[in-house]
Amino acid sequence: MEQVKCLIIGSGPAGYTAAIYASRANLQPVLYEGVLPGGQLTTTTDVENFPGYPEGVSGTQMMEDMRNQALRFGADIRFGIVTKAELAPNHNKIVIDGETEIEAKVVIIATGASAKYLGLPCEAKYAGMGVSACATCDGFFYRNKTVAVVGGGDTACEDALYLSGLCQKVYLVVRKDYLRASKVMQERVLNSEKIEVLFKHEVIDLFGEDGVEGAKLLKNRGGEEETSTLAIDGLFLAIGHNPNSKLFADYLDLDANGYIVTEGATPITKVPGVFAAGDVADPRYRQAITAAASGCKAAIEAERYLMEN
Ligand code: NDP
Repeated sequence: MEQVKCLIIGSGPAGYTAAIYASRANLQPVLYEGVLPGGQLTTTTDVENFPGYPEGVSGTQMMEDMRNQALRFGADIRFGIVTKAELAPNHNKIVIDGETEIEAKVVIIATGASAKYLGLPCEAKYAGMGVSACATCDGFFYRNKTVAVVGGGDTACEDALYLSGLCQKVYLVVRKDYLRASKVMQERVLNSEKIEVLFKHEVIDLFGEDGVEGAKLLKNRGGEEETSTLAIDGLFLAIGHNPNSKLFADYLDLDANGYIVTEGATPITKVPGVFAAGDVADPRYRQAITAAASGCKAAIEAERYLMEN
């Protein structure tokens, strides 16, 4: 079985930053990129709030830059998905793609989070045929068409704005009577001629022969409910994310929403030598910059742990 000093699981800003720090500290990190190399940022448009990019930068470019920076210092970046993990101090056994076993002295978990769905049977029925949780991946297929985005946060606003550049019309379906997104995003959405915000509405079903042709909506008017239909060609979900922590649930403490619990503001988990960084352990901030910072902290803790053990 291959033995490594430092294994990093995940390739978003947390994983790559951990790899940069760990390789510069000569921990010879091995990083497995997971299902979506580069993580969630590869599915967004421009990142405008990461310090150091006054003109903004595409999420994909930023991830490529971080990856190259880690490679420059010798990080061993591999394509592969962790399918099993047995965590124990100094002897963490990790299985890659169901077959390759690796033993690692320290593990940095930076597996991020995955998009949430509404949980309606129609979402599975129309998966890839009109339902998507990634506007930047699939928006292209809806050029000059009409789509709806569900959600009222920054992601939903960002997706609606991105789609408004491609589509004829974009509905933003928001279950409350306000947007949760930052003010600047709210203003952009509310000032867009192509976006119509439907407050207090929920999507309860989809219909269509060979793909989505419309959505059934439920409107809440102060206790009274009313249904209606909306003709759309595609539905984009932007209602938040679930942390990718299931693999570690038998060994680490998770909070009620599945986020890995760490010691205060550190990435230290309850298993010595196992650290959690980025969105998988951050129910509160979930930003590229905070993920990168926690990846840095995790690598520093890993270095300390290896020195002491
Ligand atoms: P949020 O958790 O902030 O927002 C989720 C939205 O989806 C809320 O409006 C919520 O409604 C709604 N929602 C949740 N479940 C359902 C449901 N079942 N049916 C209908 N609506 C639902 O998630 P985001 O992904 O938008 O953002 C996550 C974090 O990432 C935030 O901190 C955000 O600021 C950040 N972010 C920053 C960006 C940037 O700065 N460029 C870009 C994207 C994200 P309700 O309000 O009713 O709960």
